[in-house]
This record gives sequence, C-alpha cells and structure tokens, in this order.
Amino acid sequence: MAAEFSRRTEGLLDRADTICERRGANLTELRRHVLDLVLDAASPTGAYELLDRLRRTRRAAAPPTIYRALDFLLEHGLIHRVERLSAFVGCVAGCTAAPDGESHTHAAQFLICRDCGRAIELQDRHVSAVLARAARDAGFTIASATIEAEGLCSTCRASATARTSVSV
Ligand SMILES: [Zn+2]
Ligand SMILES: [Zn+2]
Repeated sequence: MAAEFSRRTEGLLDRADTICERRGANLTELRRHVLDLVLDAASPTGAYELLDRLRRTRRAAAPPTIYRALDFLLEHGLIHRVERLSAFVGCVAGCTAAPDGESHTHAAQFLICRDCGRAIELQDRHVSAVLARAARDAGFTIASATIEAEGLCSTCRASATARTSVSV
C-alpha cells in the first residue's frame, strides 16, 4: 500500500518536472521537496504542518520558505488550495495537462469528507463549462475558481452504516 502510494507520488513528481521544464520554470530542490510533502500526505495539509515536516530535514526553513514554495506550486497548477480547510493538496493529472490557456479557466472541484478530511478532486469538464458560460452571461471573466462540496466519502459512509446497523 505504502509502496503503491509512493509510486503514485513518484509519477506526479515526474509530471511536475516535465510541466516546469516545458514552461521554463525552475522546480528547485526545495520546491520539489515541498511538492513531495503535499503529495505524500493522505489528506489536505496546512502550511504550518508542511513546515514542520520540512524542518525534519531542513532545520532553517521558516514560514516565508514554505509560502514561497507553495505560491510557486499553485501558480503552476501542481497543487490546489482547499479554502474550506486552509490546506493544500496535490493536483490530480489532468488539470495542468489541459492545453495552454484552458488550464486558467479550469474550475478545480473538490469533494471534502467531514469524517476523514480527505479531498477528492473531480475532473468534470461539464462543471467548468457550465460555470464559465454562466459567468460569461453575467459579463464576468473568471480568473480562477475552486468548487468545494462537503459530505461523506464512500469509505466513511460505509463505516457509518456499519456502526448504525451494529447498534440497531
Ligand atoms: Zn487539479
Ligand atoms: Zn471519509
């Protein structure tokens, strides 16, 4: 399980390298390290928690260190900020794979579990398209958008159902 997760992280890091190379952006060792920490976390992680983890190997790391790295990763669409949780999560493949320009109007969509805190990213182009059209009708140009829905994930819903049926 752990090996599988790190293989996934490895793949995403490789993708990040390719994206940055194509854009002429410099994915420094520090930025890559922060991305690695975000990707390796099971659920969205706050900046200070990331800083704590970073300090295990980089004792001199300070809040500006982490914020600057996170800004870079956000700017290049490698991570998302989940506003509801004030936390960061890695972008699943696809957001930044969109042709240039399209990625800027892409609305990131998250299903956030109240129980386990996981954030599942959806890749529904129709949702983005509907939002873009509604905005256009209102004469509005969207620079960035994040749609966040809160509820229970399938795992937590299943265990909640199991708990209920045991107590009945
Ligand atoms: Zn994304
Ligand atoms: Zn859950």
